[in-house]
Amino acid sequence: MKECSRHARFVTVLAVTLLIGACNPKRAIMEVAVGDMEKYFGAEEYDGSELVKLTDRVYTYRWTWYRSIVIDTDEGLVITDPFNAEAAAALVRHLKEAGLTKPVHTLFYSHYHLDHTEGGAALEPQRVLAHRGCPSYWADVDASRVLPPTRLIEGDQVLTIGGVRIHLLYLGRTHTDTLYAVYLPDERLLWTADFALVRTILPIGGPDYYFPGAIKAMERLAALDFDVFVPSHFGYGKKQDLVDYVGFFKDLEDASRRSMEKFGREVPRSRETLQDSFDFYYDELEGRYGDWHGFDENVLFVIVRATTGARLGY
Ligand SMILES: [Zn+2]
Repeated sequence: MKECSRHARFVTVLAVTLLIGACNPKRAIMEVAVGDMEKYFGAEEYDGSELVKLTDRVYTYRWTWYRSIVIDTDEGLVITDPFNAEAAAALVRHLKEAGLTKPVHTLFYSHYHLDHTEGGAALEPQRVLAHRGCPSYWADVDASRVLPPTRLIEGDQVLTIGGVRIHLLYLGRTHTDTLYAVYLPDERLLWTADFALVRTILPIGGPDYYFPGAIKAMERLAALDFDVFVPSHFGYGKKQDLVDYVGFFKDLEDASRRSMEKFGREVPRSRETLQDSFDFYYDELEGRYGDWHGFDENVLFVIVRATTGARLGY
């Protein structure tokens, strides 16, 4: 039934698209695909912002489809990723409303990407931590909205701030080579940025950068002892959601290996091989992950990313 409704919807959309875009149907099909991303990003569902208490010491802050954590320590607040000026200003309001009026002891940047690191000045942090590789990237782009780190770090770090143990776990070559996860063993909670999600396909064919490294790092995190899993996008969940994501990536890796056995190690070039290869991946993934959020909107990107990455080694 679900399969039928999906096909019916596709045929309807295609027919309307071809009618509207009679002068340039290929462009019209692409416009529909791009517009469908509205459903993925949840323009209405993920509107606004909220602060929710998760454990004794930890809150999760959501701004649209972005999500960070706030750790309430005896020495002040520890906050991950400000995202941008608007998100940070809204967080300041939420903190005040929740009675969290301690100063921000530490602002931590999970990785250098601008959509995670702008606007931190509004939080007036006493110190800002980031991986030591971040500034070299910021030197190449307009990073004028990034509050510069006061301390650069590398490798794993264990901090104890105001009675809370905070493990900063360096994830190596994954989504950039500046990425950390934040593990709170006493709160039994893990937060990651742009890495694994809860029953949701990563956007634009993620993991951006290096797939083999992402699987290794994800397996490392899945071996940790925790209950609550909070990713930097969409909803939060349990450890099993991260374990499921390792399974998704391993299935993708396995499908890529079998796809190359079937269609050859060269990047497919003929229409027939390209379409057969697409069908192969689609069938493999749809059965197991077709009900994950964003499958329809992102599966083409995932397939293109996997097809290319497996053959080129990234
Ligand atoms: Zn990122």
